[in-house]
Amino acid sequence: MKSLKENFQKAHIVIIGSGIIGKFNALELSELGFQITIIDPTELQNSSYAALGLLMGNMYQKRRGRSWDLRKQSIELWPQWITFLQKFNSELNIEKPLIQLTTNEEKFKKLEKFIYENNNQNLRILERDSIFIKNINKTFQTNNIKGIISFKDGRINPFSLLQTLDKYLKHKKINFSTGEIIKIRKSKNQWISTTRNNEDIKSDMVILCNSLKAIDLIDNISHNITLKPVLGQAMEIDVNDGEVDLLSLPKQFNINGKNIIPKSKNKLIIGSTDEYSTKPEENTFEKLTNFLDKKPNWLLKGKISKKWYGIRSRPDGEPSPIMKNLEDGLIVCTGFYKNGILLAPACSKWVANEINNHFS
Ligand SMILES: Cc1cc2nc3c(=O)[nH]c(=O)nc-3n(C[C@H](O)[C@H](O)[C@H](O)COP(=O)(O)OP(=O)(O)OC[C@H]3O[C@@H](n4cnc5c(N)ncnc54)[C@H](O)[C@@H]3O)c2cc1C
Repeated sequence: MKSLKENFQKAHIVIIGSGIIGKFNALELSELGFQITIIDPTELQNSSYAALGLLMGNMYQKRRGRSWDLRKQSIELWPQWITFLQKFNSELNIEKPLIQLTTNEEKFKKLEKFIYENNNQNLRILERDSIFIKNINKTFQTNNIKGIISFKDGRINPFSLLQTLDKYLKHKKINFSTGEIIKIRKSKNQWISTTRNNEDIKSDMVILCNSLKAIDLIDNISHNITLKPVLGQAMEIDVNDGEVDLLSLPKQFNINGKNIIPKSKNKLIIGSTDEYSTKPEENTFEKLTNFLDKKPNWLLKGKISKKWYGIRSRPDGEPSPIMKNLEDGLIVCTGFYKNGILLAPACSKWVANEINNHFS
């Protein structure tokens, strides 16, 4: 008779969707010895490639509940995965720290309260006289920006991360199919995923990591999951002003809800919008640069050198993300609205536990 371990290792798992969530699940499950097939027809257009890659874990202010638990677990897992993935890309890293800023006195008071209550070495208040704040106020031609710094949060470059995961998956000889799955069904003890070209892919389990489209594949009446598309735009701005050196700013920071990543002396990335639509609105520049009462001159004169968007899925009527064991051998991981990159390790750990339970 085969041991449980043998059954477990031979099990074939199909992952539908190859964004960060699909790829991370493939990594975790492949390391556990499962045979994996990932299926995705158009991965380069997904929201993972559009992400800015900020990992806002420790600076999350609600310190209890599911959302915090997922963040906390991811914060612990990220450094271990980075060390592991560095075998495939030695430059992969989390660039730290992360700075959160506001011009709103009330919001700053809340940030202060959060820091005092948490008494955490890795979180500090940035007062008006800190060198960071002085520099930021000078560059943004204002005097009322204040905030906090988190030494343990930061940014991972999403493009580099996804490319590194591809390298790993190739190294592990993970099957990759470019079909679009239009139907899944269970027949006897197997799951059958059917592509638009009528190819059937059999597996022991299916994990739906295909964001908005997950609901097309499940019986929505019995599972009752609703997802809304939330489009996020981001842009790179070229600043033609010899007086400004954007590299004097921190590597990544957030002012009044907008994430800013200086790329060079005269280029920066700003993201992102929240548009409840599948078509990007046109006034991108205005939407992304209205985070201060008055724009600095260099920003007023700035020109968009690149812009892009991604469509995320937001659960309607339940918290984000949706991670559920729908039925025997069918798991869904979707609704990663804002923090899919941050939460990918915790999500794949949850999936691995569910699968462990399934085979034990
Ligand atoms: C502008 C922007 C900035 C962001 N910044 C951050 C950030 O700083 N930090 C952070 O943590 N998160 C950020 N996010 C959010 C993050 O990008 C998402 O939460 C995350 O990418 C969701 O990943 P996913 O794998 O669930 O979905 P996706 O990356 O969208 O992947 C879903 C995949 O499923 C595939 N698919 C769909 N239907 C099928 C089918 N029928 N068969 C096969 N495959 C299918 C699609 O082709 C797609 O590749 C940002 C998002 C945007 C848009």
